[in-house]
Amino acid sequence: MNHTHYAHLPLPASLNPCIDFHGHLCPGLVYGYLVAMESLRRLKEIRSDDEELVAISENDACSVDALQVLLGTTAGKGNLTIQNIGKNVYTVYSRKAGKGFRFSRKNTYVYSGETPELFDDLEKKVTLGTATVAEQKQQKILKTLDLLTKPVDEVFAITDAAIPEPAFAELAPSVACAACGELTMKTKMVTRDDSLLCQPCASVE
Ligand SMILES: [Zn+2]
Ligand SMILES: [Zn+2]
Repeated sequence: MNHTHYAHLPLPASLNPCIDFHGHLCPGLVYGYLVAMESLRRLKEIRSDDEELVAISENDACSVDALQVLLGTTAGKGNLTIQNIGKNVYTVYSRKAGKGFRFSRKNTYVYSGETPELFDDLEKKVTLGTATVAEQKQQKILKTLDLLTKPVDEVFAITDAAIPEPAFAELAPSVACAACGELTMKTKMVTRDDSLLCQPCASVE
């Protein structure tokens, strides 16, 4: 699904490319959107053309896609690190600014939109597992729209990132594994009896 599917909703235009990339609109995507937009505001940068912005996500969920689209921190460029320990925590660092911010989601989500009774009813059904697919969708959309109206520091605890400047993406030559022959980044290989092995081959022995 692309963003035109949600044209009836009052969404900010900057969210549209995130929806197009991710394939649907969900609260998770909006969490990433909020992190990205607030990072850009604080770091006064636009999208990362090379590697001046770095993002570290402590989960591998929907939110990461908004970071990739809006910050240009992508899996392929090496300026996105997914340390998947299942935490709702994101760090965005700017090499140019020499600083970064850590966003930790607060656990006190309270719906403050226009239809609290409807939301509570849907939330109860979702929690009990009795919500229909349509009701699950409606609950997600209500939460999504509500999140977009909240001040970002109500959704996330934001602190200065206490991390050293992240290293640039590793550039290393690829060499053929001595066992399987497949090209492998040299720095990821294991030396065994003076020959280089890829990790799967090294673990077989
Ligand atoms: Zn999603
Ligand atoms: Zn191998």
